[in-house]
Amino acid sequence: MILQLYNTRTRTKQEFVPMDPAHIKMYVCGPTVYAPPHIGNGRPVVVFDLLFRVLNTLYPAVTYVRNITDVDDKINQKALETGRSIQEITEETTALFHETCAYLGALSPTIEPRVTQHISEIIQMIQRLIDKEYAYVKEGHVLYRVHKFAEYGQLSRKNQDELLAGARIEVAPYKENAEDFVLWKPSVAPTPGWDSPFGFGRPGWHIECSAMSAKHLGKTFDIHGGGIDLVFPHHENEVAQSAAYHDAVMANVWMHNGHLSVNGQKMSKSLGNVIIIQDLMHHIPGQVVRWGLLSSHYRQPLDWTPELVKQSSSALNRLYTALETLPDAEWEYPADAMQVDADILKALQDDLNTPLAFKRMHELVHAINTAFSADEKLKHQKTLLHTGKLLGFFSVNTHQWFREGVSEDAMTAEEIQNYLDQRKSAKENKDFKKADEIRNVLKSKGILIKDTPNGQEWQREVS
Ligand SMILES: [Zn+2]
Repeated sequence: MILQLYNTRTRTKQEFVPMDPAHIKMYVCGPTVYAPPHIGNGRPVVVFDLLFRVLNTLYPAVTYVRNITDVDDKINQKALETGRSIQEITEETTALFHETCAYLGALSPTIEPRVTQHISEIIQMIQRLIDKEYAYVKEGHVLYRVHKFAEYGQLSRKNQDELLAGARIEVAPYKENAEDFVLWKPSVAPTPGWDSPFGFGRPGWHIECSAMSAKHLGKTFDIHGGGIDLVFPHHENEVAQSAAYHDAVMANVWMHNGHLSVNGQKMSKSLGNVIIIQDLMHHIPGQVVRWGLLSSHYRQPLDWTPELVKQSSSALNRLYTALETLPDAEWEYPADAMQVDADILKALQDDLNTPLAFKRMHELVHAINTAFSADEKLKHQKTLLHTGKLLGFFSVNTHQWFREGVSEDAMTAEEIQNYLDQRKSAKENKDFKKADEIRNVLKSKGILIKDTPNGQEWQREVS
């Protein structure tokens, strides 16, 4: 057994059989760039980043494609509302998305295609679907003829009635059947559009992923991922387009991460409980957010709460404390010298069982704290460090970690340095009373000072 993955298509966990064990191919649906990413958008970023890292550990080469949707009615709407240009909005939001991914410790995908750069591939795919009678042109629209594709509904396991009810059907005069979906729609300035054999217009949402995955990964690839809300209609429609176009299966394994709620509620603008990741950046280290997002199994629903942030912060503080005596030089090691804990890798190979992997990391901390010799301790510390890095943690060392602010009212490094300078001059003036006072002020704010031969050193108190 190399890797077991849960396949949404079969609704079972099964052994992953790569098409080519020398080169794994994965596609994940990326963001529509019209608004800053919220915590729910962060979940697939982190989950599929972890899968990417595990695949890279198990196989010699992995191509990970994650698209940027930069043509969408929500973007057009935002441009109308704000009076800003579409390009300005999409570029700014893409940059924010990249910043968010870096904050969450996610590696860049191998290829990040943008829809606006694949319009000719999209038009070519639509034309062929028309030629094969899987699509038809009516009133400037191109629609997919759903009933022509016999396997429609197999991925989402919806029956005909559910399909009709679930498709958010707009009764439109240009549709042969209510369940047919749009591949191309007409555009009128200032809405962006492109010339095509079916008139000036823009692509519907679903066709882009069929066109971009085919271009970058070929007609069939190993893994297709995304959030659970994408199963229907987005992924169902991708399957219909790609299979009809290629006469081949689109992806062998379909993986979906579960929903994310906030304090037990669905996140929504009207409830005012949307957590924008950028707002977390100033007071929560990205690793804490990453830990929280991975603390539940990826297929389970996840409730984002202040307690979860606190627990994740304590867990990382405990891990970092266990690495405190690890020499700085050990933090830099060659990739081929990686000593990953076998049990943790095994847990990840079992459909990314992160709760079990995290539990085992705490066991490693226990082994470090109870080691009977310095050699044994060092060995466990190295294993914890290397395994944590595989999971996308330990981007900074222990020293740096305890200097990062962890709460909104935490003192900044600058403020602390200010106090330390005052304390230094107090000591130089033999005003030890004042020096002690400053020490106590800092202690009350969770900052511990140590006097060392090299001067004063400080760290944040571990909660
Ligand atoms: Zn997609």
